[in-house]
Amino acid sequence: MLEITSPLRLRLSHDTLISNWRWLAAQADGAACGAAVKANGYGLGARDVMLRLAGVGCRHFFVATWAEAAALLPLPYGCELSVLHGLGPDDMGPASAIAARPVLASPEQIQRWKAMGAGRPCDIMVDTGMNRLGLRVEQVAQGAADGLHIVNCLSHLSSADEDLDVSAAQLAAFQTVTRLVKAQRYSLANSAGLCLGTEYQFDLMRPGIALYGGIVHPRMAGNIGQVVVPEARILQLRTVDVGETVGYGCTWTASRETRVAVVNLGYADGYLRCHGGNGAGMLNGMLVPTIGRVSMDLLAFDVSDVGDVAEGDWISLSYDLAEQAEKTGLSQYELLTVLGQRFLRIWE
Ligand SMILES: *Cc1c(COP(=O)(O)O)cnc(C)c1O
Repeated sequence: MLEITSPLRLRLSHDTLISNWRWLAAQADGAACGAAVKANGYGLGARDVMLRLAGVGCRHFFVATWAEAAALLPLPYGCELSVLHGLGPDDMGPASAIAARPVLASPEQIQRWKAMGAGRPCDIMVDTGMNRLGLRVEQVAQGAADGLHIVNCLSHLSSADEDLDVSAAQLAAFQTVTRLVKAQRYSLANSAGLCLGTEYQFDLMRPGIALYGGIVHPRMAGNIGQVVVPEARILQLRTVDVGETVGYGCTWTASRETRVAVVNLGYADGYLRCHGGNGAGMLNGMLVPTIGRVSMDLLAFDVSDVGDVAEGDWISLSYDLAEQAEKTGLSQYELLTVLGQRFLRIWE
């Protein structure tokens, strides 16, 4: 059989994913710890993430859409899946066929769900101030969620990693919601939210970014580890003379004779142009800076200071999420979810 290898790979650390989940779970005073695996597990591969976390006891998973839910089937034994975008006009077919619950967010969605048959278990989203998805607290107070069999009653924090006053107001609103709505579990906290205190944790926490190495609360530093390391292979080595330039726009000029390594990686893979000038990688234990602009599928590194380099060698990109976010202006979420399909995802 023809075997085609990829010159691009994401090295994914099973042990770090697990230790991140365990650390997050250990912040709880009784609350269960689930996992947000939407957007293909933040780019890592949703099914792989789910199976690995299920293996250590994670039971509650969250995706955005029914297509994402379908891609996770069959669910591991004892696991539950919630579809955050709820029940749109075209979702009734998938919702009756797929073993996942919609997170109902509007009176229209609730009506659709009731039309599919009484008493089926569902989740609901109540908006406590973000004004994104969810029923208003007043709608819930007026009985909008009456007659539903609610497993998880959710709300979502808008500023858990940014603004304590906003979070406190949302917490107070959600405490009201817990008195208005009868549900098996209440759930408010994402990654940053669960670090705000046990009062934010209710019955079920829903971390996403921190599972995958994002640092979104000071307490995570040193406890949450990097899961994803992108690596690219050297396609060509060349020597560039003083005064010559590298790449589109001639933005980089050699000030010394420079050994340049060109790798298979570009903005089409999610290594966006904002990394140019800030990026770096590791080669044979040495830090090597990127030079020039990032092309669609190519990127150059200055490897002058590294001995013993050959075409075919792999460069590991510096991809500490907090650090790269700081340097590029991208969020830690963007840094993961843009990583493209040309990467071979290798768990180790
Ligand atoms: C994405 C998402 C989460 C996870 O958020 P993180 O900030 O990645 O931890 C939790 N709940 C909802 C509703 C989400 O959309």
